[in-house]
Amino acid sequence: MENSETRKEQPEGKKAIMKIVCAWCRKEIGEKEVEGESGITHGICDECLQKHLPKK
Ligand SMILES: [Zn+2]
Repeated sequence: MENSETRKEQPEGKKAIMKIVCAWCRKEIGEKEVEGESGITHGICDECLQKHLPKK
């Protein structure tokens, strides 16, 4: 039996995980894959969004 599925996943460039943290309450919102160095970026969670930037 011929095994033709020998392909391997190869990383494209250098990928790292960037954590997204709420700048107001410091809750971790999520994370995203970035190229380069891993680290922390700031965003705003839904709770703070409604608290600080209420929609009309
Ligand atoms: Zn928040």
